[in-house]
Order: sequence, then C-alpha cells, then structure tokens
Amino acid sequence: MVVLCGPGGVGKGTVADRLVKEVEGLELSRSWTTRARRPNESNLAYSFVSKEEFLRAIDEGKFLEWAEFNGNLYGTPLPDHQGSTDLLLEIDSQGAHSIKKLFPDSLVVLLLSPSEDSLRERMRQRGDDEAHIDARVRLAKKEIASAREVADYEVINLDLDRAVAEIASMIYKARESKSRGGDIGRG
Ligand code: 5GP
Repeated sequence: MVVLCGPGGVGKGTVADRLVKEVEGLELSRSWTTRARRPNESNLAYSFVSKEEFLRAIDEGKFLEWAEFNGNLYGTPLPDHQGSTDLLLEIDSQGAHSIKKLFPDSLVVLLLSPSEDSLRERMRQRGDDEAHIDARVRLAKKEIASAREVADYEVINLDLDRAVAEIASMIYKARESKSRGGDIGRG
C-alpha cells in the first residue's frame, strides 16, 4: 500500500497518474466521494455518489477507510483484488493515519509545494477565488502538520519529473526491504 498525501493544489493527482504509468505493478485506487464533480474534471476521477449511497456503503463495510474533508465524504473502497499489485491511494491525512494503523508497513509519502506562494498560484490556476484560497491555505497547513505525524518521506514538488522519480525509487526501496523482511525507513 502506497499512500500519497499532501495539501490540495500540490499536484498529487498529476504525480499519482505518472507513478501508475511508470512503476510496474502499481494500481491507482479510485475513491468514492459525495463532492460534486468540478467543471473539466474527468468523471473517472472519483466514483461520484450521493450522500445516501455513501452512508449505505459505510454501513455495508465497503470502505477500507473513509473521512470527511471540507464538508464532503471521501472513501477508499476495499480492494477487489488479492493480487501481486501494490495499491496507490491519493488520500487526505486522516486517511493516511487510518491506513498506517491498518497496514503499518505501508509507505506514506507527503507531497509538498516549494512555497506557500506557489501553492496559492496553483490554487488560482485551478480557478479558486482569493477568499477561498486563504481558507484552503489554512487547511493545507493543518493537513501538512497531521500528515507529518505518519509520513515516511516528504517530497517537494518543484520539478514533476524529479518528484515522480524520487517517489518511484522510494517504492522500489520499500518493496526490496519488504522482500527482505525489513521495515521501511523514515526519512
Ligand atoms: P479533492 O476534493 O480536492 O479532490 O480532495 C480533497 C481531499 O480528499 C484531498 O486531500 C484528497 O487526497 C482527499 N481524498 C481523496 N480521496 C480520498 C479517500 O478515499 N479517502 C480520504 N481519506 N481522503 C481522500
């Protein structure tokens, strides 16, 4: 289990897409959410469901973990395979805490932006208005502090190719260490 977490607007989605293309045996888990689809967002980005449907799935034990984030519900469905692939979860810090508890040998990577200004700029590019951005930056700071409690590694998304390569090598290293029966290191 590989967990990619970090504040909204840091580029987790882009990094996750690249990782599943470049790292063999890595599959992206598709989360469920009650959030409305954003304009221009792919309808495959999430399983977009109603709150009723989500609450029913909780009752039926369909999630590995779920959390409320910014007023919406998000959940990782139980994986439908027992196979040889690793699962990549792009989730918030509450989810990272849950997964680390369930799977202590999972690899948790915290993706960070090079600076607060660059985070604000990315949020603006996504179409957030200025008042909205201030609130999201405050939320981002909380997210980072909480994710730091469980992250094995922190990666700064200054250069996309480099961030992807760094995380890929962390995954290979964790696999190698696991196959030798060892723990993954914190760093
Ligand atoms: P967004 O609405 O911007 O797509 O996502 C908001 C936050 O929810 C992001 O930090 C994203 O990583 C997180 N998230 C997405 N899917 C899940 C999930 O299944 N579980 C949890 N705990 N968080 C998720």
